[in-house]
Amino acid sequence: MRFSPEKLSIPDQRMKSFIDPDEIWDLINNTKPDAQRVRDVIAKSLDKQRLTLEETAVLINASGTDLLEEIKQGARELKQRVYGNRIVLFAPLYVGNRCINNCKYCGFRASNTEAVRKTLDDSELIKEVEALEDNGQKRIILVYGEHPDYSPEYIAHNVKTVYGVKKGHGEIRRVNINAAPLDIEGFRTVGQSGIGTYQVFQETYHPEAYKLYHLGGKKRDYDYRLTALDRAQEAGIDDVGIGALFGLYDWRFEVMGLVRHANHLEACYNVGPHTISFPRIKDSVSLNLDKNYETSDEDFKKLVAILRLAVPYTGLILTARETPDVRREVLQYGVSQIDGGTKLELGSYSDTKNEDQDLNREQFKISDSRSLAEVIDELLDSDYLPSFCTSCYRMGRTGEHFMEFSVPGFIKRFCTPNAILTLAEYLCDYGQGETIDKGWKVIGQNLDKLETQVALSTREKIERIKAGERDLYF
Ligand code: SAM
Ligand code: SF4
Repeated sequence: MRFSPEKLSIPDQRMKSFIDPDEIWDLINNTKPDAQRVRDVIAKSLDKQRLTLEETAVLINASGTDLLEEIKQGARELKQRVYGNRIVLFAPLYVGNRCINNCKYCGFRASNTEAVRKTLDDSELIKEVEALEDNGQKRIILVYGEHPDYSPEYIAHNVKTVYGVKKGHGEIRRVNINAAPLDIEGFRTVGQSGIGTYQVFQETYHPEAYKLYHLGGKKRDYDYRLTALDRAQEAGIDDVGIGALFGLYDWRFEVMGLVRHANHLEACYNVGPHTISFPRIKDSVSLNLDKNYETSDEDFKKLVAILRLAVPYTGLILTARETPDVRREVLQYGVSQIDGGTKLELGSYSDTKNEDQDLNREQFKISDSRSLAEVIDELLDSDYLPSFCTSCYRMGRTGEHFMEFSVPGFIKRFCTPNAILTLAEYLCDYGQGETIDKGWKVIGQNLDKLETQVALSTREKIERIKAGERDLYF
C-alpha cells in the first residue's frame, strides 16, 4: 500500500513547490557552453540518458547556426533511434467550457461574458463520440473548464459513457483527460474510471509571472497546481502529462521548468511524465497580452529539439495550435503524438452546419483545421507510420515510453506491429481514395523491417482484420 501522509495529517514535502526560480535563472545566466560541451551533452542524450538541468541550460545557451543544426540533428537521430517513424493520433473533445477561473489568455475565463457557455449532456457527448468514431479516431482527450459541475464523479461518468459508445467498427479505446487539478480522492475516482493519461499544464513555471496571468479562482494557487500530478500519483494514476503554455514567460525558463518537473516525478515516483505538451498561445476573445514573451517559430523549433534531447523517453505532443508547416518541421525533432481533425467548439464534431471558427464558442483559434484523413495522408506521404495503438495501456504495460527506450527490441516487437494493425483497421474501415494504396505501401515497408516471426504473426493478424476481426494487438 502507498504511504498516505494526508491520512496521518503529516505535511507531505512532495506537495510543496519544487521549482526554485533563482536556481533556474542562475543556470540560464551562468552556463556558457563551448561547442565541445554542447556536443558532449547531445552525445549523452543519444546514449539514452536524460539530461540534468545544467545540461539542459547548455543546450538552451548554445548559439550559432551550426550548433543549432547539431541540436536539431541530435533530436532527429534520437527520434529515429528510439521511436522510429510512428506518429500516434488523437483528437480533443471539449465537454464543458464553464469556468470559475480567470486565466488572462483563455476564452473560457469567467470574466468573458461573450463566451457561449455549454456543457454536453450524455446524448450530446455520445453524438460527438460517434462522429469521432466515424472519422476513425480511437484515442481522445476530454477537455473541461474548471467548475463545480465538473466533479470527479461527473468526469468519471463521461469516461465510462465514452467507452460505451460503439458505432460500426468504431470505438474509443483510450480516454485521456485535460481538466483542473483534483485532490487525491478526486484523482482516485477519475483514475478508477479507466483513463489513460491525466494532463495538467502548469502554464508558466515562474511563480511571479503565474500570478499575473491567473487573476482569480482556484487556479490562482501556483503550488496546488504544481503538485497536482503528485496527488495523481498518490491516487494511483501513474500516467500523467505535463505542459507549459509558451508565450507567458521566457521560453528558456519554461523548458527548464518542464525538465525539472519531469525529473521531480521520476525521482519521487520512479516514473516520469508520460507526455510533455508545449502549446503556444493562440488568439482568444479579447486577448490582450504583453508580446514580450511571444515565442518565435525559430525558438519554438529549438525548444522542441531541446526537450526531445533532455527527456529522451517522454512522449512529446504537438497540437493543431500550430500551422501545418510548423507541424511538418517539428515532427522530425521527436514529436510522438499529434491531433488530427481537431475542432474546439463544443458539439461541433457532430454538428457540421457551422464550419467557421467562432471565438465566442472556442477556447482559442487553431491553425491546422485539416481533417484526420488529410493529416494521415500527409503522414503517409512522408513515410511516417500513423498509429492508433492503445495496446500498452490495456495490457497494463504502463510507462511504455520508458520501455520503448530501455527494453531492447520493444518497438519492433510491440509498437511497430501494433501501429501497423491499427493503420490496417483504419484503411479497411475509413480509408478513402489514394490514401488506401499509400497506407498499404507504408505497411508493407514497415513489415519488411520486422523480424521474420513477428512479421509473420502481424501478417496473419492483418488477414484476420481484412476478414472482419477488430482490435487485434500484441
Ligand atoms: N481548464 C483546465 C485547465 O486550465 O487546466 C483544463 C483545460 S484548458 C481548457 C487546456 C489548456 O489550454 C490550458 O492548460 C492552457 O495551457 C491551454 N490554453 C488556454 N488558453 C489558450 C490559448 N489562448 N492558446 C493556446 N492554448 C491555450
Ligand atoms: Fe478556465 Fe482552464 Fe481556461 Fe483557465 S485555461 S480559464 S481554468 S478553461
